[in-house]
Amino acid sequence: MNGSCFLSVVVPMFNEEEVIDTTYRRLTSVLESIGETYEIVLVNDGSRDRTTDIVRKLCESDSRVKLVDFSRNFGHQIAVTAGMDHASGRAVVLIDADLQDPPELILEMVARWREGYDVVYGKRTARRGETWFKKFTASMFYRLLGALTSVNIPVDTGDFRLMDRKVSDTLCEMRESSRFIRGMVSWVGFRQTFVEYIREERFAGETKYPLRKMIRLSIDAITSFSTKPLKLAGILGFLLSAAGFVYLLMVLYLRLFTDATQPGWTSLIVISLLFHGITLSLLGVLGEYIGRTYEEAKRRPLYVVSDRLNFERNTEREPERVGVGSRE
Ligand code: UDP
Ligand code: MG
Repeated sequence: MNGSCFLSVVVPMFNEEEVIDTTYRRLTSVLESIGETYEIVLVNDGSRDRTTDIVRKLCESDSRVKLVDFSRNFGHQIAVTAGMDHASGRAVVLIDADLQDPPELILEMVARWREGYDVVYGKRTARRGETWFKKFTASMFYRLLGALTSVNIPVDTGDFRLMDRKVSDTLCEMRESSRFIRGMVSWVGFRQTFVEYIREERFAGETKYPLRKMIRLSIDAITSFSTKPLKLAGILGFLLSAAGFVYLLMVLYLRLFTDATQPGWTSLIVISLLFHGITLSLLGVLGEYIGRTYEEAKRRPLYVVSDRLNFERNTEREPERVGVGSRE
């Protein structure tokens, strides 16, 4: 049957040696309890610890565990994409490796999906064991994103979600390289709903999302879903030139009709600093978009796979899948 199963669970992993075994056990017991066929697609995102070795052992003992092994670290959103490309289930669940998202919630997600929803995302009502700074920046980020974008991206949701095959297929066809998957899922539409949960503490290990990666993700999110920064840059530039023009008239008036002109060194310096600063920051905004246009224009593959285990075919996206669309 072309390897297609009821449910695929995609787990991105970057240096997660401490959590894999526990995550695997908890996921397996939840998935067993559904009583349908399933697969666990583990994507190793260029880990430098023993992650690959541990996953390889799991693959040997359990053929429902599959490995997509990247040649280097490509980032969380790309790892999730690769997992979806390789998933064959009639529904696909995305979940983090660190058990911050409780696997038990998958049961509820499957129930909502069987009711007819195409996307069931997890909404965090509380976050445990995360720093004040992380919670604060995350909440600011979701609100800023809401204000800047026209796509309605739900607040306080991560990538923990279930998607019907047709949603997953649509996402896989969107090959843009700056990916913000939660935004893309909102963009595609379909019937969406959510289930609430409490985000637990990381089970072991440290966060693999340092501030640098969080900022990258936020910029990707805003620039891929909004051109408002470009428009704001234009408006700001226009207002400033208008103000500059008024000041110019004033200076001319003072020079021509009064004796009040000074050598003017201070004002020149102030203006030059101010305007250079602003010009440069606006150029920065433009550069951000131009850089992205360039990235997209290159049409590079999103990731490079060095190895695959337990897949029936050694190809990426299978063009034809059996059983698409039916949920029973
Ligand atoms: N991750 C990844 N590649 C990266 C960073 C993170 O595949 O470059 C994975 C990581 O292994 C985990 C998930 O993405 O399964 C979420 O990362 P993490 O839990 O560290 O982020 P946080 O929950 O702190 O935001
Ligand atoms: Mg985490």
